[in-house]
Amino acid sequence: MTPLVSASIDSGALRHNLSVIRQWAPNSRVMAVIKANAYGHGLVAVARALESADAFAVARVDEGLTLRAAGIDTATVLLEGVFDSEQLDAAAAADFELVVHTHEQIELLRAAAAGTRFKVWLKLDSGMNRLGFKGSAFADAHAALSALGSVQLPVNLFTHLACADEPELPATAEQLARFDEATRFLPGERSIANSAGMLSFSDAQADWVRPGLLLYGVSPIAGAIGADYGLKPVMTLRSHVIAIKDLAVGEQVGYGGRWRAARPTRLAVAAVGYGDGYPRSLGAGAPVLVNGERAGLAGSVSMDMIGIDVTGLKREPKLGDPVVLWGEGLPVEEIAVWAEAIPYELLCGISQRVAVSQR
Ligand SMILES: *Cc1c(COP(=O)(O)O)cnc(C)c1O
Repeated sequence: MTPLVSASIDSGALRHNLSVIRQWAPNSRVMAVIKANAYGHGLVAVARALESADAFAVARVDEGLTLRAAGIDTATVLLEGVFDSEQLDAAAAADFELVVHTHEQIELLRAAAAGTRFKVWLKLDSGMNRLGFKGSAFADAHAALSALGSVQLPVNLFTHLACADEPELPATAEQLARFDEATRFLPGERSIANSAGMLSFSDAQADWVRPGLLLYGVSPIAGAIGADYGLKPVMTLRSHVIAIKDLAVGEQVGYGGRWRAARPTRLAVAAVGYGDGYPRSLGAGAPVLVNGERAGLAGSVSMDMIGIDVTGLKREPKLGDPVVLWGEGLPVEEIAVWAEAIPYELLCGISQRVAVSQR
């Protein structure tokens, strides 16, 4: 039975995007960021497609454990580290690498069972003011960590960029300068750049780049799409036409009836809605592809359905015809603009009800 709504994941595109990333950062290793169910693409399937990545990065312990349970033993970094001794024990058993950003995490490592040894990434807060140690606290944390038996030496060095998608701002240069100042005389591997950072700041590529969005073929820079960089979209979100009707001028569509036919209208109803993660903020006119041809939304997005104005399409839609919401032929970056969202949000936001399948 074909699912009504599906997200098909193109594993060839994933591998292509990884190879493009490697060309841009030829001197760096790649930590492929696959947190949040690989940005909605399916954690384990994406990890399998990207088995040639040098490491994976996830946000939380359970995400890493899902990889191990699937038999994936690639080096895996926990981007937020661990928060209690139970997680630390799980991380030791699974051989995860830990980002360390609080004193409490250093104390957990101090109390770690004898014989455990972690590769750690000490995080500098270079200006994002989210996670990490600042200034002299960073040097103190570095000294404290380096003295622990549970820590593999040397301690590795990590920071995160807040504004790399706006390269015209001075913020990134300031962050890079702070990172350089704090780490200049320290040994250890360095990792700084997310997708936007590696695209716009080649001096941020360091030993390890941490691309997320680029892997999925999507541009982190507003106003551009992945194809502008030679990337291929990985996820195509698809549904099908489940009803077709003709409306007279003035007839309304959907909840609230705020959309009215301004001309005799052929309306197709497709089975997808905010219950699938298709954003309700998408207004009338937002593009979809019906049989590969562009058409616009009519009426508001319901939980399970949308209306599409298909008047005058070259190919007369019929029941069961495919409707693409984003992906191949319809960049998610464009839909994000219509939804007043960012593409990250749309990709991560597809719901459990959507059948994710790899090809
Ligand atoms: C999510 C994340 C990334 C990846 O970000 P993209 O913008 O998707 O490339 C890299 N580093 C850290 C610390 C992250 O949390």
